[in-house]
Amino acid sequence: MDEFGLIENYFKGAGPASADVILGIGDDTAILQLPANGKELLVTTDTLVSGVHFPPATAPRALGHKALAVNLSDIAAMGATPHWFTLALTLPVADAAWLEGFAAGLVRLAENSAVALVGGDTTRGPLSITVTVIGSAPAGKSVRRGGARPGDLVCVTGRLGGAALALAHRDDSRIGEGGMHYLRERLDYPLPRLAEGNRLRDHASAMIDVSDGLAADLGHILAASGVGASLDSARLPLAPVALDDNERLDCALFGGDDYELCCTLTAAEHARVMQAWDPAWAPLTVIGEIEAGPGLRLRTADDSTRPLETRGYRHFDDDD
Ligand code: ADP
Ligand code: MG
Repeated sequence: MDEFGLIENYFKGAGPASADVILGIGDDTAILQLPANGKELLVTTDTLVSGVHFPPATAPRALGHKALAVNLSDIAAMGATPHWFTLALTLPVADAAWLEGFAAGLVRLAENSAVALVGGDTTRGPLSITVTVIGSAPAGKSVRRGGARPGDLVCVTGRLGGAALALAHRDDSRIGEGGMHYLRERLDYPLPRLAEGNRLRDHASAMIDVSDGLAADLGHILAASGVGASLDSARLPLAPVALDDNERLDCALFGGDDYELCCTLTAAEHARVMQAWDPAWAPLTVIGEIEAGPGLRLRTADDSTRPLETRGYRHFDDDD
């Protein structure tokens, strides 16, 4: 099968048929209907490289899901709505079983998230997957990182640390089958918090998605806003598995790949948001508050406070 057969078989028509796709896959470019006046376009790209972002043995269905999910998570973190995406796929070989699994994971999430695949590129080389998502939001309403103010509550959706625990405990008899399944789903099939992000728009003062660990990503909000924060260790929503509390806390703070949302908002806005928080959504938990003094601190159960490092994983960190 050549690249054209591969595109035709696996990717053409992925995602919902959509009236705002004037011309989809098959010509030199896609043609898209601009959103109505009063909206802005949002564009984001993320690449997954084998051996860097995922173990080479990762199931192809999980890769198809995750390549799109991590990009949708960025759109969610702005409080925006995704519309279209492109896929640049570099493959060592065109293996039909691999492509079927990959396309199944990709198409399922595309349909569930109402985003249409409108183009891409297919090349031979070491496995690497780049997705670009285009979305929109009402003009001036996207939630940036720089708006946190002293007194704001710090909140997160869902639970943190599960993906990092899955990597650290591939076959750990302490966790049990149910716990292992929970952790693997967290690592391989993160759900972009699009509905939650949308609800938080117009209320949150700052928002980010947690891809590199809570401390690092909240650290970006603190730096952009010129503020600090204290977190309560007892309030952090940890992975519900039978592992040591310290390790679960450590993975929540410093593990990556959670793709939950972290936002800040005033107590009044928080109360407003909670009045219409759909029980089907990931729960929103208050975990601390923004303070004027810079830096990130953790209050522990014995009421002592310790500083937290806000550095996460960084590519090229070892280079001179
Ligand atoms: P060109 O040489 O003009 O760039 P290509 O041969 O790369 O065109 O692609 C042909 C069509 O297939 C284009 O519409 C392109 O967007 C689409 N396409 C290529 N690869 C992919 C892919 N992996 N997923 C979705 N669409 C793709
Ligand atoms: Mg091309």
